[in-house]
Amino acid sequence: MQPNEFRRHGHVVVDWIADYLENPEQWPVLPAVRPGDLRDSLPQSPPLRGESMDAVLEDFRRLIVPATTHWNHPAFMAYFANSSTGAGVLGEALTAALNVNAMLWRTSPAATELELLTLDWLRQMLGLPDKFLGIIGDTASSNTLYALAAAREMHPQLRIRQDGMAGRPDLPKVFVYCSEEAHSSVDKALMTLGFGLSALRRIPTDDRLRMDASALDAAVENDRRAGAIPLAVVATVGTTSTTAIDPVPAIAKICEREKMWLHVDASYGGTAAILPEMRHVLDGCDRADSLVVNPHKWLFTPMDCSALYTSRPDLLKRAFQHVPEFLAVSEGEGVVNLMDYGIALGRRFRALKLWFVIRDFGVEGLQTLVREHIRIAKKLAQWIDTDPTLDRLAEVDFSTVVFRHRRPGMTANELDQHNVRVLEKVNATREVYLSHTRVRGSYALRIAIGNIHTTEADVRRALELVKEAGTLT
Ligand SMILES: *Cc1c(COP(=O)(O)O)cnc(C)c1O
Repeated sequence: MQPNEFRRHGHVVVDWIADYLENPEQWPVLPAVRPGDLRDSLPQSPPLRGESMDAVLEDFRRLIVPATTHWNHPAFMAYFANSSTGAGVLGEALTAALNVNAMLWRTSPAATELELLTLDWLRQMLGLPDKFLGIIGDTASSNTLYALAAAREMHPQLRIRQDGMAGRPDLPKVFVYCSEEAHSSVDKALMTLGFGLSALRRIPTDDRLRMDASALDAAVENDRRAGAIPLAVVATVGTTSTTAIDPVPAIAKICEREKMWLHVDASYGGTAAILPEMRHVLDGCDRADSLVVNPHKWLFTPMDCSALYTSRPDLLKRAFQHVPEFLAVSEGEGVVNLMDYGIALGRRFRALKLWFVIRDFGVEGLQTLVREHIRIAKKLAQWIDTDPTLDRLAEVDFSTVVFRHRRPGMTANELDQHNVRVLEKVNATREVYLSHTRVRGSYALRIAIGNIHTTEADVRRALELVKEAGTLT
């Protein structure tokens, strides 16, 4: 592409993005497409000769955008809402332009040092102590896997790094503990690392869906007595289903006594700790060996950007450092080569967008947005609590509200079916996108507030749609 052409198309694209981010509600939040529709509307083989970028952009507007679920839409309240932002998009564009591969310090000093610096900024924002080194990964799922791989290196006598786990009758059983409500990425990490799903002990929760620390204590003791190695605990700050907060201080105490690795999954909830009045959600996390928080969830940074903090970077490095000759460099002590801290050799310059976002909003700007989301969620909880046709099913510790519609005289099973239909009806309007969960077996609706465009009025409207659907079904 010639520079003048790039300039022309670039201006068109920037204008398109500016209009889009100004007014994402010009499209329905959920697209009116069926599986296969988009694929069928496009050529099934690649073009032999290059096409005009005008034609490509036209197809983007005409076909791609209408087949997109608009996470930027203010009525996107499913899962955990996220946000693209002007600063984040500009950072992403420049990352693509520089296109560095930050595997070694030398292959991009700026990418390596900005990653360490920006995550140190975020660490300060979260109120975590400076013993934590932060690095950026693609997702919390990968980062949790890395943390558990590092935990394994607490036991070098097992020689798993060298000899693996297969065909080794000399290895004791190794257990990892998390609550019944912990994210499925913990299961996946154990599947991938070769521990197997049976190495996961899901600990029961209390009446607020928080890990029962005394049940954890008992499980660890049992396993220890049976000759197994209790390896690690994954505590969650803000569970995916109901945003429950495990009692990290009590869990940390057990981990310290038992010499277990403590990993905290604060993928969603951790962001709240940038508010002084919410900092308590990370109580005890200064005693963790690792913690994950996702700026690509609630910190207005485009996908993907997940921060992994560890106070044991030596063990993370022992788990993953493996240097072939062609990558051997001697930069001297204290120089970080990011390839040593995970599976990926090639690494994107992900810090740039996060650095842009933090500088553009400032800490206060980010705090104002997060505080507003929490305020709206509390308001929503009040509306639900004072409405006889609605039942709230979980505490509102962050910006996510879990509830259901109710009809007198329905059995538990009928109520579940009723709410399945309510959700289908609400999402069929394509005016709002909500998702569901189960709370102690009961089918529940979730409203997750986290997009930068979402206002109190949008949330009010979402609740009205639920009530309408509840009356009609
Ligand atoms: C979203 C979430 C994850 C998974 O995050 P990815 O970055 O998509 O892998 C893990 N744990 C919790 C608690 C989450 O909310």
